[in-house]
Amino acid sequence: MKLICIGRNYTEHIKELENEKPSSPVLFLKPDTAILLKKQPFFIPDFSEDVHHEVEVLVKINRVGKHIDKKFAHKYYNEIGLGIDFTARDLQAQLKAKGLPWEKAKAFDGAAVVGNWLSVDTVKNVNDINFSLQNNNSIVQQGNTSHMLWKIDELIEYVSKYFTLKIGDIIFTGTPSGVGKVVANDKLKGFIEDKEMFSITVK
Ligand code: ZN
Repeated sequence: MKLICIGRNYTEHIKELENEKPSSPVLFLKPDTAILLKKQPFFIPDFSEDVHHEVEVLVKINRVGKHIDKKFAHKYYNEIGLGIDFTARDLQAQLKAKGLPWEKAKAFDGAAVVGNWLSVDTVKNVNDINFSLQNNNSIVQQGNTSHMLWKIDELIEYVSKYFTLKIGDIIFTGTPSGVGKVVANDKLKGFIEDKEMFSITVK
C-alpha cells in the first residue's frame, strides 16, 4: 500500500510557510515503511533539528480505481481518519531551495502517524469535519475540512489520474496552519470533533 500526501491544501498554512498558492494539488508519496507502528513513540531522527507536526485528515481507499470522476469518488472510501505528516522542515527547506524531491524530509521511517478510523456513516458531512491537534494538552492546530482548497472527492479525482488507487491506500489531505516543532517528551493527541484518534509520545 502507499500513502499519497497533499501539500498546500489550506490557505492559512500556505501563508505561514510563505509558499505560493498552487494551481493544482501538490502531491508526494510516502512508502508503507513511514507508518509509525501502533503504540510506538516517535523518535526525532538525527538528521533534523526541526521536525514539525502536520495534523491531517486521512481517507482510506476501499476499491481499486483509476481516472475516478469526482462524482463517483465517494464510492472509493468509507473510512475517515486522522494522522500526522511529520516533516523535517530544515531538510525540506534545503531540498526545496535546490529543487530536489522532498522524500528524505517527509518519507523517513515513522514520519506517518495513522490513527483510528471512523466510518463515513458516523460523520455527518466529510466536507465539514472539525479536527485538532493538542501538544501537551494545549491545542496547537485546528482545522475544518470545509477550508480545503481541494475537497476529498476532488483530491481522489486528481490523484487517480496519476496513481492507480488500491485497497488500503491512504490519502493525507493536507495540514491547516499551526505547524510547529516537536521536542522530546511532547505528547501529541489528535481529535476529530471530540473523539481522540491517536496519542503519541515524542522521544
Ligand atoms: Zn502535510
